[in-house]
Amino acid sequence: MNWFNKLKSGIQTLVRRRMPDRVWVKCERCEQIIYQKQLEKNTGICPHCKHHVRISSAEYIAAVLDKGSFEEIGREVKSTDPLAFVDLKPYPERLKEYRKRVQMDAAVLAGTGKIDKMRVGIAVHEIGFIGGSLGSAEGERICRVIERCMRDQLPLIIVSRSGGARMQESVLSLMQMAKVNAALSQFSAEGLLFISVLTDPTTAGVAASYASIGDVNIAEPNALIGFTGPRITGSSVSAAEMEALRQAQRAEQVLEHGFVDMIVSRNQMKATLSQLIAMLASPRKESA
Ligand SMILES: [Zn+2]
Repeated sequence: MNWFNKLKSGIQTLVRRRMPDRVWVKCERCEQIIYQKQLEKNTGICPHCKHHVRISSAEYIAAVLDKGSFEEIGREVKSTDPLAFVDLKPYPERLKEYRKRVQMDAAVLAGTGKIDKMRVGIAVHEIGFIGGSLGSAEGERICRVIERCMRDQLPLIIVSRSGGARMQESVLSLMQMAKVNAALSQFSAEGLLFISVLTDPTTAGVAASYASIGDVNIAEPNALIGFTGPRITGSSVSAAEMEALRQAQRAEQVLEHGFVDMIVSRNQMKATLSQLIAMLASPRKESA
């Protein structure tokens, strides 16, 4: 090893330099190598095949809101372990791991912000935190944004990216479906606009509740949208049936069957949301 040490002092190029993490990434669909900065600039869309890479909740908010306009709501609401649940490991241990990994205390980032200077309420699922699953903290954060929207007469956007209800919170997580939908009923009675954005994947309890009941439901291209995802059905059907199911649950098929209103690329999402809000949002104060 002395040989390397000798070279190290004489030849600069052999010195191993620390590279920042994830300078290059590989597209999971076309397998092309993409420069991370280019991917970020393109809102997480592969420049080669247009695949929409799953981005974080903070990145999504940066992609659709005016720069610097986001103000978080419900940051103090954190996932807890009311049932003392243990599966392969205790639930609090899982929470601790995910908190460290994504620097969040729940799988929803919520708040208010502006789209082309128009104020909106927004809640975005964080797929990196236990699959973006819906638990008590997530339901509460979404409801707090809905309440703020009602108070300030704002349109609401919920960006779903979730495997559904969180099994570690059992019936308490299932209850969040009803809780959020009940809040949305009150919101709707105020005559306010709710836009649901369904991204890859939107499945199970989230797809079966608030993600499907927007005044306008928008999907991202090729997003998986359905009740049971491949991990559940994969164990009980043949490969051919599995592939047919996978195709049936893609956004384009879901659009054909009328469950979503339009498919919009992520780099066009802000402009589309802006147009919809400008056309459709009519606060009760103005219409009364
Ligand atoms: Zn690609």
